[in-house]
Amino acid sequence: MKKTHFIIAVVVLFISIYLIATKEIHEHADFAVYINGEKLNFSQDKYMHHETAEEEKSEKHGQQEDEKAHMHDNVGWIAHKHAADATWGIFFRNINITFNSACFVFEGSSYCSNETHNLRMFVNGREDFEFGGKKINDLDRVLITFDNSRNIDAQLNSVTDEACLYSRKCPERGEAGSEGCVTGGKQCT
Ligand SMILES: [Zn+2]
Ligand SMILES: [Zn+2]
Repeated sequence: MKKTHFIIAVVVLFISIYLIATKEIHEHADFAVYINGEKLNFSQDKYMHHETAEEEKSEKHGQQEDEKAHMHDNVGWIAHKHAADATWGIFFRNINITFNSACFVFEGSSYCSNETHNLRMFVNGREDFEFGGKKINDLDRVLITFDNSRNIDAQLNSVTDEACLYSRKCPERGEAGSEGCVTGGKQCT
């Protein structure tokens, strides 16, 4: 192989690796949280991700914790993921909620597993024990529940199935809405 050919091959290889590594991450998951049988309502403005013009211009834009996973457009049951290492712990921390294997701390109240109540997490219908450390995966359906009942079938069944609309993985079901933060759509980190 001629030296120039070798150099071209190396350059092409590095450009390909760079393009793969920097590919935009934009995925979605459905979730619901129940405390003592009551579904929490996250569809309020205070839980949404808003950025000021200054934040968007800042050098650190795109690298901050609050940009990794959050909600948009007052849709309180879809988590938007913008970073490969985004976890449910990061997602909830961004709205001032602590979520770990022991407790769910929400608006000043701690809901911690004890003799009568259990904090549990289900991912796609299966119990999961990673809690806040669990990575957010595209199209996952997540239930977090704090309850004294073992029967949480109704709660499991209530977890929505809309992330595929936002991730554009189910075109047969239509669109999540042109104004929404959808994969391949407007910039909404
Ligand atoms: Zn999104
Ligand atoms: Zn976003």
